Amino acid sequence: MTQHRAIVWFREDLRLHDNPALNHACTNYDGIIPCYLYQPEEAGAWREGAASRWWLHHSLAALDAGLRARGSNLLIRRGASSLDCLRDLARETRATAVFWNRLYTPHATARDRHIKARLREAGLTVSSFRGSLLFEPHEVLKQDASPYRVFTAWWRRCQALGLYQPEVTAPAVVSTPAGLTGAALEALDLLPRLRWDTGLHECWTPGETAAHDRLDRFLEDAVAEYAHLRDYPATAGTSRLSPHLHFGELSPRSLVNRALQLTADPGCTALRPALDRLLTEVGWRDFAAHVLHHFPDTTDTALDPRFRRFPWRRDYHADLGRWQQGMTGIPVIDAGMRELWHCGWMHNRVRMLVASFLTKNLLIPWQEGARWFWDTLVDADLASNTLGWQWVAGCGTDAAPYFRIFNPVTQGKKFDPAGEYVRRWIPELVALDARHIHEPWRVGGAPEYPEPMADPGRTRARALDAFRSLSGAP
Ligand code: FAD
Repeated sequence: MTQHRAIVWFREDLRLHDNPALNHACTNYDGIIPCYLYQPEEAGAWREGAASRWWLHHSLAALDAGLRARGSNLLIRRGASSLDCLRDLARETRATAVFWNRLYTPHATARDRHIKARLREAGLTVSSFRGSLLFEPHEVLKQDASPYRVFTAWWRRCQALGLYQPEVTAPAVVSTPAGLTGAALEALDLLPRLRWDTGLHECWTPGETAAHDRLDRFLEDAVAEYAHLRDYPATAGTSRLSPHLHFGELSPRSLVNRALQLTADPGCTALRPALDRLLTEVGWRDFAAHVLHHFPDTTDTALDPRFRRFPWRRDYHADLGRWQQGMTGIPVIDAGMRELWHCGWMHNRVRMLVASFLTKNLLIPWQEGARWFWDTLVDADLASNTLGWQWVAGCGTDAAPYFRIFNPVTQGKKFDPAGEYVRRWIPELVALDARHIHEPWRVGGAPEYPEPMADPGRTRARALDAFRSLSGAP
């Protein structure tokens, strides 16, 4: 009997539950070839960074384990190009169809369009699905068909369209033809040779099961305080689902549907403000993809054209190094940068502070910060990272006005009032009490902890002068 076989090309959708491409293949074909093609050069300058590679290794291992439990396995291939790999695989397996879930970064969109056309020319059935966003960039446009640039208007439109969307369940069995050979996961060389990843192991468990466990725990234990505690970096006030969402171990639909279920539960009315807030944050993730899709140059270029002439400093490399190492002498900034180095993650409030300090107090181009985050974050996401940096620098969509410059000392006192977060990440300051921990220089500093490299007040004035030098600045 002839088997109808389909290839399922996994990318940033490393899950079995609510995976539309996998579901479509399993529903309509009797032989499934689940594959992951490792072709980092296809992402050009944005091939994944070191922390993302670590996550990817463990996430692929988890996906393979999930497939094995269903009678299949993940076929890993590395070849000249994704197109060549898919063509070879179709020939070897006699598959007649290829399915994947869509990605939205500029390089992935262009590559996938090309691959789809070539495979169709070769006579294969090819379909792609919406798996990693709630709404696709072309689905939510203004009345004149132009893209939204302001989040609130865009989100209102999304809410009017309806946030609930049904999920598809994981297949009970994935039947894969025997005898296919691929590369060993280790051959992809994703793990660091110098073992700097101990902290990542301490902080994270990649994979779909861990993602759902984290979501369950967050909804049970922490969501009630989310609206209130999400700005306090010493608390476990946010979900920490960002890397799971980025790698697609959890679909945004699953997260949103769980939140909507709770919202509709009459016994949970007290949770509504927190759940609304959580839904809005997940909306920001979609909005970032929307902005990058419509403004693909923003990974490197300020969306606001005035900022393309901004007088950034040129001789900044030593200062950039101190920022990266968490040695600026400003405690909350250094705590954030050290958290990033240890865990591959940083709390959102602190991301805003370190980004503001780099771009406004140190006058270092936002692109340098975005690059460092790209290499060190386990949740590095081209759309969210670009939007976050441009937002803080004041040059993106919906951006914080340039003249609103965070004072890292005041912000430290406000959002880490007891100094717990600083003490956790800066052992040099552990002996300081809450009154002095955000300004150690006031009590003579601490051994081995540097003096502040920039005075927040004076550098603020310099930043404002630089901003005023732009024509058209208010
Ligand atoms: P929660 O508060 O629990 O939110 C739930 C989910 O909503 C998150 O997991 C995330 O997917 C999404 N989300 C929340 N806030 C934002 C936001 N501001 N923008 C987009 N999505 C959001 N997020 C990334 O996922 N990858 C990045 O590379 C990234 N870079 C950033 C760079 C800067 C300079 C800034 C200011 C923010 C950046 N963010 C990035 C957004 C945000 O900091 C993280 O998504 C958030 O800290 C993740 O923690 P969480 O999962 O506990 O979030």
